[in-house]
Amino acid sequence: MVAQWAYKFRFYPTPTQKRQLAIEFGHARFVWNWALETRTKAYQEHSKSLNYSGLSRKLTALKQTECPWLGEATASCPTQKLRDQDTAFKHFFAGRAKYPRFKKRHQTQSVRYQLDQRHVEKNFNAESQRLKLPKLGALKLKWSRRMTGIPKMVTVSKDPAGRYFVSLVCEIEILPLPTRKNVIGVDVGVKDVVITSEGYKSGAPKYTYQYARQLKQAQRRLSKKRKGSYRRRRQQQRVARIHARIADSRRDFLHQQSSKLINENPVICLEDLNIKGMLRNRHLSKAVADCGLFELRRQMEYKAAWYGREVLIVDRWAPTSKACSECGTIHESMPLKVREWVCPDCTTRHDRDINAAINVLRLGTVGSAGTDKARGAVKTPRAVA
Ligand SMILES: [Zn+2]
Repeated sequence: MVAQWAYKFRFYPTPTQKRQLAIEFGHARFVWNWALETRTKAYQEHSKSLNYSGLSRKLTALKQTECPWLGEATASCPTQKLRDQDTAFKHFFAGRAKYPRFKKRHQTQSVRYQLDQRHVEKNFNAESQRLKLPKLGALKLKWSRRMTGIPKMVTVSKDPAGRYFVSLVCEIEILPLPTRKNVIGVDVGVKDVVITSEGYKSGAPKYTYQYARQLKQAQRRLSKKRKGSYRRRRQQQRVARIHARIADSRRDFLHQQSSKLINENPVICLEDLNIKGMLRNRHLSKAVADCGLFELRRQMEYKAAWYGREVLIVDRWAPTSKACSECGTIHESMPLKVREWVCPDCTTRHDRDINAAINVLRLGTVGSAGTDKARGAVKTPRAVA
Protein backbone atom coordinates (compact mmCIF):
# COMPACT_ATOMS: atom_id res chain seq x y z
CA MET A 1 0.00 0.00 0.00
CA VAL A 2 1.30 3.46 -0.89
CA ALA A 3 0.82 5.99 1.86
CA GLN A 4 1.63 9.65 2.36
CA TRP A 5 4.12 9.70 5.15
CA ALA A 6 5.00 12.95 6.86
CA TYR A 7 8.25 13.39 8.70
CA LYS A 8 8.32 16.27 11.09
CA PHE A 9 11.59 17.62 12.40
CA ARG A 10 12.36 20.53 14.64
CA PHE A 11 14.91 23.00 13.39
CA TYR A 12 16.85 25.95 14.70
CA PRO A 13 17.05 28.92 12.35
CA THR A 14 19.89 31.41 12.41
CA PRO A 15 18.96 35.07 13.10
CA THR A 16 19.11 35.78 9.34
CA GLN A 17 16.85 32.82 8.59
CA LYS A 18 14.45 33.97 11.30
CA ARG A 19 14.20 37.38 9.63
CA GLN A 20 13.61 35.86 6.20
CA LEU A 21 11.03 33.46 7.64
CA ALA A 22 9.21 36.33 9.31
CA ILE A 23 8.93 37.87 5.82
CA GLU A 24 7.76 34.59 4.29
CA PHE A 25 5.17 34.01 7.02
CA GLY A 26 3.98 37.60 6.91
CA HIS A 27 3.61 37.68 3.15
CA ALA A 28 1.91 34.30 3.05
CA ARG A 29 -0.51 35.48 5.73
CA PHE A 30 -1.13 38.69 3.82
CA VAL A 31 -1.86 36.75 0.62
CA TRP A 32 -4.20 34.36 2.42
CA ASN A 33 -6.14 37.21 4.04
CA TRP A 34 -6.21 39.25 0.84
CA ALA A 35 -7.48 36.26 -1.16
CA LEU A 36 -10.10 35.46 1.44
CA GLU A 37 -11.38 39.03 1.44
CA THR A 38 -11.39 39.25 -2.37
CA ARG A 39 -13.24 35.98 -2.59
CA THR A 40 -15.81 36.87 0.05
CA LYS A 41 -16.44 40.31 -1.51
CA ALA A 42 -16.75 38.90 -5.03
CA TYR A 43 -19.34 36.52 -3.76
CA GLN A 44 -21.30 38.97 -1.60
CA GLU A 45 -21.33 41.86 -4.08
CA HIS A 46 -21.49 40.11 -7.42
CA SER A 47 -22.47 36.54 -6.45
CA LYS A 48 -19.35 35.50 -8.31
CA SER A 49 -17.14 32.72 -7.10
CA LEU A 50 -13.43 33.04 -7.65
CA ASN A 51 -11.16 30.05 -7.92
CA TYR A 52 -7.44 29.42 -7.79
CA SER A 53 -6.58 30.49 -11.34
CA GLY A 54 -8.63 33.71 -11.13
CA LEU A 55 -6.98 34.65 -7.86
CA SER A 56 -3.56 33.72 -9.13
CA ARG A 57 -3.95 36.20 -11.99
CA LYS A 58 -5.15 38.89 -9.58
CA LEU A 59 -2.17 38.21 -7.34
CA THR A 60 0.30 38.69 -10.19
CA ALA A 61 -1.37 42.01 -11.00
CA LEU A 62 -1.24 43.04 -7.34
CA LYS A 63 2.48 42.28 -7.20
CA GLN A 64 3.11 44.47 -10.23
CA THR A 65 1.07 47.44 -9.05
CA GLU A 66 0.15 48.06 -5.41
CA CYS A 67 2.34 45.62 -3.57
CA PRO A 68 5.75 45.28 -5.19
CA TRP A 69 7.21 44.30 -1.80
CA LEU A 70 5.54 40.90 -2.22
CA GLY A 71 8.57 40.09 -4.35
CA GLU A 72 10.69 39.76 -1.18
CA ALA A 73 9.13 36.38 -0.51
CA THR A 74 9.83 33.14 -2.34
CA ALA A 75 7.52 33.12 -5.35
CA SER A 76 6.10 29.64 -4.77
CA CYS A 77 4.99 30.28 -1.17
CA PRO A 78 2.05 32.65 -1.86
CA THR A 79 0.98 30.37 -4.72
CA GLN A 80 0.88 27.45 -2.32
CA LYS A 81 -1.23 29.51 0.09
CA LEU A 82 -3.77 30.11 -2.69
CA ARG A 83 -3.87 26.37 -3.32
CA ASP A 84 -4.35 25.70 0.39
CA GLN A 85 -7.23 28.15 0.44
CA ASP A 86 -8.78 26.44 -2.54
CA THR A 87 -8.66 23.17 -0.63
CA ALA A 88 -10.12 24.87 2.45
CA PHE A 89 -13.04 26.11 0.34
CA LYS A 90 -13.56 22.69 -1.18
CA HIS A 91 -13.86 21.25 2.33
CA PHE A 92 -16.25 24.04 3.23
CA PHE A 93 -18.52 23.47 0.23
CA ALA A 94 -18.51 19.73 0.87
CA GLY A 95 -19.72 20.42 4.41
CA ARG A 96 -16.58 19.01 6.00
CA ALA A 97 -15.27 22.27 7.43
CA LYS A 98 -16.24 25.73 8.56
CA TYR A 99 -15.83 28.84 6.39
CA PRO A 100 -12.11 29.66 6.12
CA ARG A 101 -10.94 32.31 8.55
CA PHE A 102 -8.45 35.14 8.54
CA LYS A 103 -5.00 34.23 9.80
CA LYS A 104 -3.56 36.06 12.77
CA ARG A 105 0.00 36.85 13.69
CA HIS A 106 0.24 34.83 16.88
CA GLN A 107 -1.23 31.61 15.59
CA THR A 108 0.85 28.85 14.03
CA GLN A 109 2.49 30.25 10.91
CA SER A 110 3.39 28.15 7.92
CA VAL A 111 4.67 28.26 4.37
CA ARG A 112 5.01 25.48 1.88
CA TYR A 113 7.82 25.01 -0.62
CA GLN A 114 7.72 22.84 -3.68
CA LEU A 115 10.99 20.97 -4.17
CA ASP A 116 12.11 20.95 -7.78
CA GLN A 117 12.33 17.21 -8.48
CA ARG A 118 14.91 17.65 -11.25
CA HIS A 119 17.56 19.03 -8.93
CA VAL A 120 16.27 17.54 -5.73
CA GLU A 121 19.58 15.87 -4.76
CA LYS A 122 21.22 19.26 -4.67
CA ASN A 123 18.84 20.50 -2.01
CA PHE A 124 17.83 17.40 -0.14
CA ASN A 125 19.78 14.42 1.11
CA ALA A 126 18.68 12.45 4.14
CA GLU A 127 21.97 10.51 4.32
CA SER A 128 24.15 13.57 4.64
CA GLN A 129 21.31 15.36 6.48
CA ARG A 130 20.99 18.25 4.10
CA LEU A 131 17.97 20.41 3.43
CA LYS A 132 18.29 23.66 1.54
CA LEU A 133 15.41 26.00 0.83
CA PRO A 134 15.22 29.05 -1.44
CA LYS A 135 16.25 32.32 0.22
CA LEU A 136 16.99 30.47 3.46
CA GLY A 137 19.91 28.22 2.54
CA ALA A 138 20.79 25.16 4.60
CA LEU A 139 18.57 24.51 7.61
CA LYS A 140 19.87 23.14 10.88
CA LEU A 141 17.51 20.25 11.46
CA LYS A 142 17.34 17.82 14.32
CA TRP A 143 17.10 14.62 12.28
CA SER A 144 15.35 12.71 15.00
CA ARG A 145 14.45 9.72 12.82
CA ARG A 146 15.61 7.93 9.69
CA MET A 147 13.93 8.99 6.49
CA THR A 148 13.08 7.02 3.39
CA GLY A 149 11.76 8.58 0.22
CA ILE A 150 12.19 11.94 -1.46
CA PRO A 151 9.83 14.70 -0.40
CA LYS A 152 7.93 16.73 -2.98
CA MET A 153 6.77 19.39 -0.56
CA VAL A 154 8.34 20.96 2.47
CA THR A 155 6.25 22.84 5.00
CA VAL A 156 8.00 25.18 7.37
CA SER A 157 6.05 26.24 10.43
CA LYS A 158 6.39 28.15 13.67
CA ASP A 159 4.05 27.29 16.53
CA PRO A 160 2.68 29.73 19.14
CA ALA A 161 5.38 28.49 21.52
CA GLY A 162 7.98 29.92 19.13
CA ARG A 163 9.34 26.57 17.90
CA TYR A 164 10.22 25.95 14.27
CA PHE A 165 9.45 22.75 12.39
CA VAL A 166 9.76 21.32 8.92
CA SER A 167 7.39 18.69 7.67
CA LEU A 168 8.48 16.57 4.72
CA VAL A 169 5.80 14.57 2.95
CA CYS A 170 6.96 11.47 1.09
CA GLU A 171 5.08 8.79 -0.72
CA ILE A 172 6.26 5.46 0.53
CA GLU A 173 5.35 1.86 -0.03
CA ILE A 174 4.27 0.13 3.17
CA LEU A 175 4.61 -3.62 3.35
CA PRO A 176 2.09 -5.62 5.36
CA LEU A 177 3.50 -7.05 8.59
CA PRO A 178 3.97 -10.81 8.80
CA THR A 179 0.78 -12.57 9.77
CA ARG A 180 0.41 -14.15 13.15
CA LYS A 181 -2.41 -16.04 14.70
CA ASN A 182 -3.48 -14.25 17.79
CA VAL A 183 -6.54 -12.14 18.28
CA ILE A 184 -6.57 -9.75 21.17
CA GLY A 185 -9.25 -7.90 23.11
CA VAL A 186 -8.59 -4.35 24.22
CA ASP A 187 -10.32 -2.41 26.92
CA VAL A 188 -9.55 1.26 27.17
CA GLY A 189 -9.77 3.29 30.31
CA VAL A 190 -8.66 6.26 32.25
CA LYS A 191 -6.49 4.62 34.91
CA ASP A 192 -4.78 2.48 32.29
CA VAL A 193 -5.23 3.73 28.76
CA VAL A 194 -4.84 0.27 27.23
CA ILE A 195 -5.62 -3.05 28.89
CA THR A 196 -5.42 -6.23 26.83
CA SER A 197 -7.02 -9.62 27.29
CA GLU A 198 -3.49 -10.97 27.71
CA GLY A 199 -3.01 -8.94 30.84
CA TYR A 200 -0.94 -6.01 29.53
CA LYS A 201 -1.60 -2.68 31.22
CA SER A 202 -0.19 0.48 29.75
CA GLY A 203 -0.61 2.82 32.67
CA ALA A 204 -1.70 6.38 32.06
CA PRO A 205 0.67 9.28 31.97
CA LYS A 206 -1.04 12.06 33.80
CA TYR A 207 0.46 14.89 31.80
CA THR A 208 -2.39 17.20 32.48
CA TYR A 209 -2.00 16.70 36.20
CA GLN A 210 1.76 17.01 36.05
CA TYR A 211 1.57 20.26 34.18
CA ALA A 212 -1.65 21.53 35.76
CA ARG A 213 0.11 23.56 38.44
CA GLN A 214 2.62 25.02 36.02
CA LEU A 215 -0.17 25.91 33.65
CA LYS A 216 -2.32 27.48 36.32
CA GLN A 217 0.53 29.61 37.56
CA ALA A 218 1.48 30.70 34.05
CA GLN A 219 -2.11 31.60 33.23
CA ARG A 220 -2.49 33.57 36.44
CA ARG A 221 0.61 35.56 35.57
CA LEU A 222 -0.74 36.14 32.09
CA SER A 223 -3.98 37.59 33.41
CA LYS A 224 -2.03 40.22 35.31
CA LYS A 225 -0.11 41.51 32.29
CA ARG A 226 -1.30 44.61 30.54
CA LYS A 227 -3.00 44.02 27.17
CA GLY A 228 -0.81 44.67 24.16
CA SER A 229 2.36 44.79 26.23
CA TYR A 230 5.57 43.03 25.34
CA ARG A 231 5.53 41.12 28.66
CA ARG A 232 2.05 39.83 27.92
CA ARG A 233 3.26 38.49 24.55
CA ARG A 234 6.15 36.74 26.25
CA GLN A 235 3.89 35.23 28.91
CA GLN A 236 1.46 34.08 26.20
CA GLN A 237 4.33 32.17 24.67
CA ARG A 238 5.13 30.52 27.99
CA VAL A 239 1.52 29.33 28.31
CA ALA A 240 1.59 28.07 24.73
CA ARG A 241 4.80 26.17 25.48
CA ILE A 242 3.19 24.27 28.36
CA HIS A 243 0.15 23.41 26.23
CA ALA A 244 2.47 22.21 23.46
CA ARG A 245 4.42 20.03 25.88
CA ILE A 246 1.22 18.38 27.12
CA ALA A 247 -0.05 17.74 23.60
CA ASP A 248 3.31 16.38 22.42
CA SER A 249 3.75 13.90 25.23
CA ARG A 250 0.16 12.72 24.98
CA ARG A 251 0.51 12.11 21.26
CA ASP A 252 3.82 10.30 21.71
CA PHE A 253 2.30 8.01 24.30
CA LEU A 254 -0.70 7.19 22.12
CA HIS A 255 1.55 6.44 19.14
CA GLN A 256 3.64 4.08 21.26
CA GLN A 257 0.55 2.23 22.40
CA SER A 258 -1.16 2.01 19.02
CA SER A 259 2.05 0.88 17.28
CA LYS A 260 2.67 -1.77 19.91
CA LEU A 261 -0.86 -3.18 19.54
CA ILE A 262 -0.74 -3.17 15.74
CA ASN A 263 2.76 -4.70 15.60
CA GLU A 264 1.95 -7.54 17.94
CA ASN A 265 -1.56 -8.47 16.90
CA PRO A 266 -3.16 -9.13 13.53
CA VAL A 267 -6.71 -8.75 14.84
CA ILE A 268 -7.70 -6.39 17.60
CA CYS A 269 -11.16 -6.22 19.14
CA LEU A 270 -11.93 -2.83 20.58
CA GLU A 271 -14.96 -1.70 22.50
CA ASP A 272 -16.97 1.13 20.94
CA LEU A 273 -16.01 4.22 22.87
CA ASN A 274 -19.33 5.98 22.47
CA ILE A 275 -21.02 3.17 24.29
CA LYS A 276 -18.32 3.16 26.90
CA GLY A 277 -18.81 6.86 27.46
CA MET A 278 -22.57 6.47 27.73
CA LEU A 279 -22.41 3.48 30.00
CA ARG A 280 -20.66 5.39 32.68
CA ASN A 281 -21.13 8.75 34.23
CA ARG A 282 -20.67 12.15 32.63
CA HIS A 283 -17.50 12.85 34.55
CA LEU A 284 -15.97 9.74 33.03
CA SER A 285 -17.14 10.51 29.50
CA LYS A 286 -15.17 13.71 29.74
CA ALA A 287 -12.12 11.82 30.96
CA VAL A 288 -12.51 9.42 28.01
CA ALA A 289 -12.29 12.39 25.67
CA ASP A 290 -9.43 13.94 27.66
CA CYS A 291 -7.15 10.92 27.48
CA GLY A 292 -7.31 10.98 23.70
CA LEU A 293 -9.02 7.60 23.50
CA PHE A 294 -10.70 8.61 20.26
CA GLU A 295 -7.30 9.60 18.90
CA LEU A 296 -5.98 6.19 19.95
CA ARG A 297 -8.71 4.49 17.97
CA ARG A 298 -8.05 6.70 14.93
CA GLN A 299 -4.35 5.83 15.03
CA MET A 300 -5.07 2.13 15.39
CA GLU A 301 -7.42 2.19 12.44
CA TYR A 302 -5.10 3.91 10.00
CA LYS A 303 -2.08 1.89 11.11
CA ALA A 304 -4.13 -1.27 10.69
CA ALA A 305 -4.93 -0.22 7.11
CA TRP A 306 -1.23 0.39 6.43
CA TYR A 307 0.02 -2.89 7.77
CA GLY A 308 -2.79 -5.22 6.78
CA ARG A 309 -4.17 -5.63 10.29
CA GLU A 310 -7.76 -5.58 11.43
CA VAL A 311 -9.50 -3.56 14.13
CA LEU A 312 -12.91 -4.94 15.02
CA ILE A 313 -15.11 -2.47 16.80
CA VAL A 314 -17.35 -4.25 19.26
CA ASP A 315 -20.38 -2.01 19.22
CA ARG A 316 -22.81 -4.23 21.02
CA TRP A 317 -24.38 -2.98 24.17
CA ALA A 318 -22.90 -5.61 26.42
CA PRO A 319 -21.94 -5.64 30.08
CA THR A 320 -18.20 -6.09 29.58
CA SER A 321 -17.28 -5.12 33.11
CA LYS A 322 -20.12 -6.89 34.86
CA ALA A 323 -19.87 -10.29 33.22
CA CYS A 324 -17.53 -12.95 34.51
CA SER A 325 -15.27 -13.91 31.63
CA GLU A 326 -14.87 -17.39 33.06
CA CYS A 327 -18.44 -18.60 33.60
CA GLY A 328 -20.51 -15.86 31.99
CA THR A 329 -22.54 -14.85 35.03
CA ILE A 330 -23.67 -11.26 34.81
CA HIS A 331 -23.40 -9.44 38.07
CA GLU A 332 -25.76 -6.82 39.39
CA SER A 333 -23.45 -3.87 39.73
CA MET A 334 -19.81 -3.14 39.48
CA PRO A 335 -18.93 0.24 40.95
CA LEU A 336 -15.84 1.80 39.43
CA LYS A 337 -13.93 1.64 42.69
CA VAL A 338 -14.01 -2.16 42.65
CA ARG A 339 -10.72 -3.01 40.96
CA GLU A 340 -10.64 -6.71 41.84
CA TRP A 341 -13.40 -9.15 42.58
CA VAL A 342 -14.22 -12.82 43.04
CA CYS A 343 -17.01 -14.40 41.04
CA PRO A 344 -19.42 -16.05 43.53
CA ASP A 345 -20.32 -18.70 40.96
CA CYS A 346 -16.98 -20.04 39.83
CA THR A 347 -14.74 -18.38 42.47
CA THR A 348 -12.42 -16.96 39.81
CA ARG A 349 -10.48 -13.98 41.00
CA HIS A 350 -10.75 -11.17 38.44
CA ASP A 351 -8.91 -8.00 37.70
CA ARG A 352 -11.69 -5.66 36.69
CA ASP A 353 -10.10 -4.30 33.50
CA ILE A 354 -8.47 -7.48 32.23
CA ASN A 355 -11.80 -9.26 32.71
CA ALA A 356 -13.45 -6.56 30.60
CA ALA A 357 -10.78 -6.92 27.89
CA ILE A 358 -11.37 -10.68 27.75
CA ASN A 359 -15.10 -10.01 27.35
CA VAL A 360 -14.40 -7.58 24.51
CA LEU A 361 -12.35 -10.30 22.84
CA ARG A 362 -15.22 -12.79 23.26
CA LEU A 363 -17.72 -10.31 21.82
CA GLY A 364 -15.50 -9.68 18.86
CA THR A 365 -14.89 -13.31 18.06
CA VAL A 366 -17.85 -15.29 19.39
CA GLY A 367 -20.56 -12.75 19.90
CA SER A 368 -21.36 -12.89 23.61
CA ALA A 369 -19.72 -11.87 26.84
CA GLY A 370 -18.66 -14.90 28.82
CA THR A 371 -20.14 -18.28 27.94
CA ASP A 372 -23.87 -18.68 27.49
CA LYS A 373 -24.20 -21.10 30.37
CA ALA A 374 -25.28 -18.75 33.08
CA ARG A 375 -26.63 -15.83 31.09
CA GLY A 376 -29.33 -13.90 32.80
CA ALA A 377 -28.33 -14.94 36.27
CA VAL A 378 -27.80 -11.76 38.25
CA LYS A 379 -25.44 -12.03 41.16
CA THR A 380 -23.58 -9.72 43.48
CA PRO A 381 -19.84 -10.27 43.40
CA ARG A 382 -17.53 -9.94 46.36
CA ALA A 383 -15.00 -7.19 46.15
CA VAL A 384 -11.49 -8.14 47.08
CA ALA A 385 -9.71 -5.81 49.44
ZN1 LIG B 1 -17.64 -16.75 37.17
